[in-house]
Amino acid sequence: MRLLVVEDDKDLARQLRGALGDAGYAVDLAHDGEEGHFLGDTEPYDAVILDLGLPELDGITVLQRWREAGRVMPVLILTARDRWSDKVSGIDAGADDYLAKPFHMEEMLARIRALLRRAAGHASNEIQCGPLRLDIAAAKVSLDGQAVSLTALEFRLLSYLMHHQGKVISRTELVEHLYEQDFDKDSNTIEVFVGRLRRKTRAELIETVRGLGYRLAVPDAG
Ligand code: CA
Repeated sequence: MRLLVVEDDKDLARQLRGALGDAGYAVDLAHDGEEGHFLGDTEPYDAVILDLGLPELDGITVLQRWREAGRVMPVLILTARDRWSDKVSGIDAGADDYLAKPFHMEEMLARIRALLRRAAGHASNEIQCGPLRLDIAAAKVSLDGQAVSLTALEFRLLSYLMHHQGKVISRTELVEHLYEQDFDKDSNTIEVFVGRLRRKTRAELIETVRGLGYRLAVPDAG
């Protein structure tokens, strides 16, 4: 999962990137509204954290422009404490949730997890797919009840496939959702990661759909 953080307070932006990175997400940062708007308009983020008080272009305008352009990614807005009117205008502009500053990183992470799983159509923090179980809050995967040891990128890839299980995901889509903006993106590396995941779990769980991409097989019920 790849996230965008638009926050002009550089210390807070760094803290957000650190906490989200530790939780297994790829994170891009923008420090003003223009840059944030551009990135959110051109890159396929799974969710965005958007401060409202921003230089160049304020957060509400950024959000309104994204929504007018049909960008539907979940957006968590950061508002000043006690500014209830900001929360109202933010939600009316298309925000999915808000956090009032100052906040605890744990609460921010919980809200992001909730936005991501809802966007993918999951109600709980655990996603099951046959013998595989993803614990979103703990950022851990188990196979038949045994913890699977994964690198950050392997986890990101498997987590993305599990959030979208049963759907064919192209290599391009995976590259766009796994790597940060400045990363040297090479879709051939996806094949390498898929190979490793097959070895660490079970080969038949990740299907190759020739010419299209990959699909996490949904086992027959019962
Ligand atoms: Ca600000």
